[in-house]
Amino acid sequence: MSKVPFYKHDLGQEELRKVEEVLNGEILTSGEYTFELERRIANYLGTKYALATNSCTGSLHLSLLAYDIGEGDEVITTPMTFVATAESIIAAGAKPVFVDVDLETGNLDVNLIENAITEKTKAIMPVHLYGLMCDMRAMRKLADKYNLKIFEDSAHCFEGKRDGCMSATLGETASFSFYATKNLACGEGGAMAFNDDSVYEKLKLLRLHGMTKTAADRSREGYTHWDVPIYGWKYNLSNIQAALVLPQFDRLDKKLQKRHALADYYISKLSEIEEIKFPQTVAGATHARHLFTIWVENRDEVIMELQKAGISAMVNYRPVHLLEYFKQKYSYKSGDFPIAEKIGNSTISIPFYPDMPFEYVDTVVDALKNIVQKKLIKLGG
Ligand SMILES: *Cc1c(COP(=O)(O)O)cnc(C)c1O
Repeated sequence: MSKVPFYKHDLGQEELRKVEEVLNGEILTSGEYTFELERRIANYLGTKYALATNSCTGSLHLSLLAYDIGEGDEVITTPMTFVATAESIIAAGAKPVFVDVDLETGNLDVNLIENAITEKTKAIMPVHLYGLMCDMRAMRKLADKYNLKIFEDSAHCFEGKRDGCMSATLGETASFSFYATKNLACGEGGAMAFNDDSVYEKLKLLRLHGMTKTAADRSREGYTHWDVPIYGWKYNLSNIQAALVLPQFDRLDKKLQKRHALADYYISKLSEIEEIKFPQTVAGATHARHLFTIWVENRDEVIMELQKAGISAMVNYRPVHLLEYFKQKYSYKSGDFPIAEKIGNSTISIPFYPDMPFEYVDTVVDALKNIVQKKLIKLGG
């Protein structure tokens, strides 16, 4: 057991009570709890629609399909992300085209996007890395110039804001994850938010086998025949999972404040260690503070030393273009995206979660100081 865990969920009695309600009712699969969750998501983000799904990956996939993006199309995205982002593009039949990231934030560098646009480019899929929103106003302007859609991977950024925008304010859709360690969590789950009337019915069909009636409809209206006008996937979110997410909305802002306080404390203490750098936030942004990452030289040794000291650490991320499948399939190689590679070679995610005691920050920072003193971290990172 680690002295300092990487993450601990805070689901408890309220979630148990809500799940009990579902078990006492009739519908375990998608139903009233799922729909209530959708209303709360749309309400929080100020969007016209939200649809719950069983993952962010599925939400991204369906977003592309809803806008007829697939075979022969290219979608610009970032290599500094979880592999799901690029895989959702491949699932839709399109090609992920990577563009390098910004050195200060690790987010897609909007200035480099134009160079990667071809006749086949149909969309941009930005990732709001660690919870800091990309420069969406600049990206929207560029997208409009080339008639591109924007599908936001907001897995890290449910609460994030920038320049007066939240997720799905400027993108065609934004997709969220309720995976085990995300800011809202239920083990496995997701959602997409959007404002476009023209894709609402289609996304609902795509989410559940293309069926015109769901179990909830049958329970409400009695059996009537259903049809399948289009091919669909099995991406719906159950009442049970929705019940696990719903009570967390009441703690959302408090938890965000706590993560901000922890992040500020990390930043003030880490700023004393010259050998350690970390991503910067930007003016006009409210960071959603999903992960806390640092950048060091000799990253792999530092992780080993941290683990020896009983401190869990992760890597978010080794750049996607250098993962085996992507190297083989698209002939990507080292040196293609130097900034993403530089971040990918130096990044460590350190323990960070809302109920984390402030003393753990001291423990982690002291351990890092020790490691620096052992000269494992060389200057110049
Ligand atoms: C977690 C994550 C995903 C995938 O979310 P799932 O709900 O597990 O499909 C996608 N993109 C990013 C950036 C993530 O961190």
